Amino acid sequence: MKLATTLLHSIPTDPLTGAISVPIYQTSTFVQEAPGVNKGFDYARSNNPTRKVLEDLVAVLEGGSNGFAFASGLAAIDAVVKLLEAGDEILAVDDIYGGAFRQFTHIFQKFGIKVTYADTTKVENVIDAITPKTKLIWLESPTNPTLKISDIREIAKIAQSNNCLLCVDNTFASPIGQNPIKLGADLVIHSATKYLAGHSDLIAGIVVAKTPELGEKIKFIQNACGAILGPFDSWLTIRGIETLPLRFERHSKSAQQIAEFLTTVDCIKNVYYPGLIDHQNFEVAVNQQTQFGGVIAFDLHEDSAELATEVVCFTKLFKLAESLGGAKSLLCHPATMTHKSIPREKRYQSGVTDSLIRLSVGLEDAEDLIEELRNVFKTIGEKVKKVNQTTTQN
Ligand SMILES: *Cc1c(COP(=O)(O)O)cnc(C)c1O
Repeated sequence: MKLATTLLHSIPTDPLTGAISVPIYQTSTFVQEAPGVNKGFDYARSNNPTRKVLEDLVAVLEGGSNGFAFASGLAAIDAVVKLLEAGDEILAVDDIYGGAFRQFTHIFQKFGIKVTYADTTKVENVIDAITPKTKLIWLESPTNPTLKISDIREIAKIAQSNNCLLCVDNTFASPIGQNPIKLGADLVIHSATKYLAGHSDLIAGIVVAKTPELGEKIKFIQNACGAILGPFDSWLTIRGIETLPLRFERHSKSAQQIAEFLTTVDCIKNVYYPGLIDHQNFEVAVNQQTQFGGVIAFDLHEDSAELATEVVCFTKLFKLAESLGGAKSLLCHPATMTHKSIPREKRYQSGVTDSLIRLSVGLEDAEDLIEELRNVFKTIGEKVKKVNQTTTQN
């Protein structure tokens, strides 16, 4: 069976009533017949039937053995890092999600876990940076916001031969665009807040483990630390996932069209999208991803934060907000929003210039989105021309 079919039919109908929609088990505990004799559920932190449907579903989607649902993407990351011990090291992608960087730096370093960063788009850099103490390699591919791609297959081989785990944050590709476990990773995490739930209406996180042994360890951490996803948000995430293949295809198709349009706009300097042939890691992207998702970034020849601010305040269909992966299109200005706390020089090293803008292409008609962008750049283009004329006259 193909994925869209497998996905829908991995969501069981309710064995008790035949309800086709998964019931929301809004309960904290389960009545037992005798001590320890129960129907597979005893206390809802440890296990909840609604959450379990979601957890089993994401394991199927990613091709892993066990899935786990957490209260947020960051709670999912937290659970994976807790596999480590004091003295262990993490080798992480340098272009990492800001929240993961903050957690590694301000929470885990004080418990004796050291984190080093490398540009993992070049496999040699991983080989150079790995040490006998490295117990976890942390990748994001594509990264945020400049969509850099790392070769998951090659880095999985390095991890394996160095006896260390590979975890991939697969938020940007979704399980429809890429399955890191099938490429050799040991663990996958998602901010389910984004494509999985898909409607900008909740915060959730997922961990998928490749093997039952790793799954058991994550299960222990999930129960011991307790950052579980509640039954209602689990239900909403299941409902979101039912349409994920359709949505992701539309996000990807529209984003490809928009990215190609952006490359024709005069005032735009760089367009970052893995589906563009001149993307710096295009070959690797095509090798490991089937679709490229709805996130695009671009910057302007006139590298000015003011001009970028005008663009993001001008659009009506693209709403100004952080986050991505929802039905409605969003855009943001990383330099003053998501990447504000990163020093300017470090920001520039990863391509996040003052004029960089990130789009999350939603499910609107792509032609309408392109029309809006065309109007923005016409207005901006005229403004830049006028400014340049005045400066030459003076
Ligand atoms: C949003 C995001 C996270 C964090 O997820 P939350 O659900 O906001 O906690 C982690 N990684 C990536 C790539 C993200 O985009």
